[in-house]
Amino acid sequence: MSTAGLDEAGRELLRGSIRRMLDRIAPLENVARWDRDDHIPRDYIRHLADLGLCMAAVPTQFGGTGSDPRVIALAIEELSSRSPALASLLIQNAIYGSMNLLATGSAEQQARLLPDLDAGRLLFAYGLSEPNVGSDLASVETRTERRRRSVVVNGTKRWCSDADICDFIVTLVRTGPVEARRHNLSILLIPSTSDGITTRAMATMGMRDIKTCEVTFDDVVVPVENVLGGPSCWDRGWQQLVGPALEAEKIQVPAMAIGIARSALDEAWTYAQTRRQFGVPICAHQSIRHALVDAKMKLLACRAMLDRALSAISENRDSAVETSMAKLFVAETACEIVLACQRILGAYGYAEGFQMERLVRDVLVLPIWGGSSAIQRNNLAGLLGLPRA
Ligand SMILES: Cc1cc2nc3c(=O)[nH]c(=O)nc-3n(C[C@H](O)[C@H](O)[C@H](O)COP(=O)(O)OP(=O)(O)OC[C@H]3O[C@@H](n4cnc5c(N)ncnc54)[C@H](O)[C@@H]3O)c2cc1C
Repeated sequence: MSTAGLDEAGRELLRGSIRRMLDRIAPLENVARWDRDDHIPRDYIRHLADLGLCMAAVPTQFGGTGSDPRVIALAIEELSSRSPALASLLIQNAIYGSMNLLATGSAEQQARLLPDLDAGRLLFAYGLSEPNVGSDLASVETRTERRRRSVVVNGTKRWCSDADICDFIVTLVRTGPVEARRHNLSILLIPSTSDGITTRAMATMGMRDIKTCEVTFDDVVVPVENVLGGPSCWDRGWQQLVGPALEAEKIQVPAMAIGIARSALDEAWTYAQTRRQFGVPICAHQSIRHALVDAKMKLLACRAMLDRALSAISENRDSAVETSMAKLFVAETACEIVLACQRILGAYGYAEGFQMERLVRDVLVLPIWGGSSAIQRNNLAGLLGLPRA
């Protein structure tokens, strides 16, 4: 299906198509199995490509249908409402891959990689965090050295999600002394099958089917053409990172959060009408009615925040305040919504059999990854001009 220039009615049609696809390819028993097995088969990206979702991040000159953040956000929300792991496949293709390359890739990289991204044949993972480095990315320790037309990489990335199934790891590396912080960082596109890469899965309480990995680089050699943006972007990694790459990440997290919170609310809403205590459905008890109404209201507020950020991006305005606020508010509020919905299910919200216990495990990471809530507050205080002294 073409996703080019969709208006609101068109986006609702697309929403319907995604839901029908999910009923076909991702019944709840499949989603529960992926969670249990800590794995989603990578070839599910094919179904997303068949629906035109991968093309929605790629302009027409590269064979796509136009780069539309609203369509991508809608798709991430819908996929996450059933399976964040499916949404993650789209994120690795359309956001980490296509949108990132469009914003910061060289003409050669775009021509070489966008057609395969567009067709759903490539996945990119983000290798930013390290054992000693989380929020403070300017202190990255993974090193790279230039040797004629090659670069050699040594170091360890941690929490690199889906590194085991991706094609390229978008890796933030240091090219000189650590004291220079943001001034000597570069970003490399490292093929995940390069000699010298070892990948080890890490156990997490939620998002298990988006397997997150520790990745060790031991004298990994890549051509200098694999510097993101080309060899002339050596040492320009920080500018590339804090620009469009992190902006897009601040959109993907709220879209995912809304999908997860919506599923929790749907499950609690239905359950409250069927579960009876004291001779009435529990939704007749005032505390349950109020909790459900509050959750609906909070979900609406989340949508408004994300919508504001998407408007800023679509209109090419400076979106840093809007995207940081959306990431902060929606991730935190989604946790509140899901935890409130879990209580409505009583013991059944704590046990297997319903989706709820997985939704609780999955939602809790959202205020942590993609720039924690504290980091968003720090950024916002600066962006909004609060003096430090
Ligand atoms: C399941 C999962 C998947 C992930 N996937 C990826 C991935 O694909 N790629 C990737 O690169 N990373 C990934 N991450 C890493 C994630 O982005 C980091 O966990 C996150 O950036 C926070 O870093 P940290 O956990 O090291 O916390 P730290 O930076 O050590 O922070 C610890 C605490 O201190 C607070 N804090 C830190 N600095 C400040 C400050 N200046 N002011 C106030 N408070 C502060 C933080 O908010 C947090 O509460 C993933 C993490 C998880 C759990």
